[in-house]
Amino acid sequence: MTTRNDPSPAAVSVPPASPAHVTGGPAVQLPTAFGYFTARAWTDSATGVEHLSITSPVRPDTAPLVRLHSECLTGDVFASFRCDCGEQLDQALALIAEQGGTVLYLRGQEGRGIGLANKIRAYALQEDGADTVEANEQLGLPVDARDYSAAASILHTMGLDTIRLLSNNPAKSSTLSSYGISVVEMISSEVPSREQNLRYLQTKRDRMDHRLALLEDHPVHQS
Ligand SMILES: [Zn+2]
Repeated sequence: MTTRNDPSPAAVSVPPASPAHVTGGPAVQLPTAFGYFTARAWTDSATGVEHLSITSPVRPDTAPLVRLHSECLTGDVFASFRCDCGEQLDQALALIAEQGGTVLYLRGQEGRGIGLANKIRAYALQEDGADTVEANEQLGLPVDARDYSAAASILHTMGLDTIRLLSNNPAKSSTLSSYGISVVEMISSEVPSREQNLRYLQTKRDRMDHRLALLEDHPVHQS
């Protein structure tokens, strides 16, 4: 008797290289200015980093809308216009309250994973003329150090294996797919640009392959 695994391509999905082990806490009510959500805290056992899921009930006929939102203290809390994070988070909460789904708020991902102090150092270099990619490179830091293994494990644990992803970043979608999350649609999370974040957004579009259709090519004033 021979047992064999059928390697038919349609049946094969790439297994996650090293899925994170996450522990979820209790679900609690979270009434907000955007609507009523359920919140759960999650701890990545390997790193100790704590994440938060904010969930609104999903309609039975649609895949849940999911936003993986990387923590950005300056944008999310202080409403900085140097980036688009705060407005993207507001947009995500409003859309998810309306359509159902989850915002996964990923902590430890400040400045695409380089940390708050390094992000502010990168801002200083940007004020001297570097773009967001060059600034990280000048600091000897990765351009994008984010790891989505914990996010994928949280999505699996929540039963969010098939999602509509609210993002402009195709790399996020393909990374989730490599962890076995099926992204059936990407929904734009683009918010209108501002004078203060135009160069940052143009760099994300031109050097990091973000889909930013609304962005126009006005020349950027160097400060
Ligand atoms: Zn930001």
